[in-house]
Amino acid sequence: MDKLSIIVPCYNEEESIPLFYDAVQKVVSKMTIEPEYWFVNDGSHDNSLKEMRALHEKDSHVHYISFSRNFGKEAGLLAGLDAATGDYVVVMDVDLQDPPEFLPQMYQELQSGEYDCIGTRRVDRTGEAKVKSFLSDMFYKFINKISNTEIVPGARDFRMMTRQMVDAVLSMREYSRFSKGIFSWVGFKTKYLDYHNVERVAGESDWTTWQLFKYALDGISDFSQAPLSLAVWTGSITSAISVLGILFIIIRKIVSPMSSIFGWASMVSIILFLGGIQLLCIGIVGKYIGRIYLQVKHRPIYIVKEKK
Ligand code: UDP
Ligand code: MG
Repeated sequence: MDKLSIIVPCYNEEESIPLFYDAVQKVVSKMTIEPEYWFVNDGSHDNSLKEMRALHEKDSHVHYISFSRNFGKEAGLLAGLDAATGDYVVVMDVDLQDPPEFLPQMYQELQSGEYDCIGTRRVDRTGEAKVKSFLSDMFYKFINKISNTEIVPGARDFRMMTRQMVDAVLSMREYSRFSKGIFSWVGFKTKYLDYHNVERVAGESDWTTWQLFKYALDGISDFSQAPLSLAVWTGSITSAISVLGILFIIIRKIVSPMSSIFGWASMVSIILFLGGIQLLCIGIVGKYIGRIYLQVKHRPIYIVKEKK
């Protein structure tokens, strides 16, 4: 019998954990697989860990990893993937926004051997603020223009993968982890199942629009070097324009030597404009250097306090 590892990152989810387990168990018990749950407690401040311990006592298929502090969902995912021993691995949110009813179909599709990964894609965003949906549409359009790695719009992290693909994902030990990009970068054949948005069963999403915006910027700098080229291009264009300006001043001096006492206001604007562009370009370069800095320090991506 195949083993299916179910990876569930949790942050302050005491209410959702038992609901999640019951819902998934109901589906999994009807499948001919051996389940292996990996709950990852990402430094929760509530009783999430207690809930996990209780489930572990009740069902020997349930395991958990508890972090020493909050490391973020991406770190939680990685810890789960590191620990998983299954032939197939599925990544799920604990808030039941990833419907467990998809599991049998995902497993079946993978078994046919035609695909290495079955992902899910939201086709609508009911229950989400309009601004948020608009910004995220813009983000997908933009990142796909400037990155060679395809980022599928609306794709969730909810996906089932073969062992081969999981090993490929695990071979990427980058510090700054943008899963949507990583899953796509490793290649393999992915099929997307469409589904309608489901609201979370309990608790609240911790993602503010500002955090999502920062996450988007991180995704761009992780999977595209276009901002660096942008800096190069703005630099080149402004220097080309300044050469024209210099020529203009020299020629004017020769043609009419007395006409050069005007335009200090325009000069100040130009200086400010160029100063702004320079800072922007340095900032872009700095952003990438910051990433290099974090990467070369080789800090662990997460620290485990308890694992069972
Ligand atoms: N999560 C986590 N660490 C964090 C934030 C979230 O492990 O720092 C987990 C959370 O418990 C949930 C999943 O990641 O299982 C998705 O989080 P959420 O529902 O808040 O995000 P959304 O569904 O709005 O994208
Ligand atoms: Mg959610």
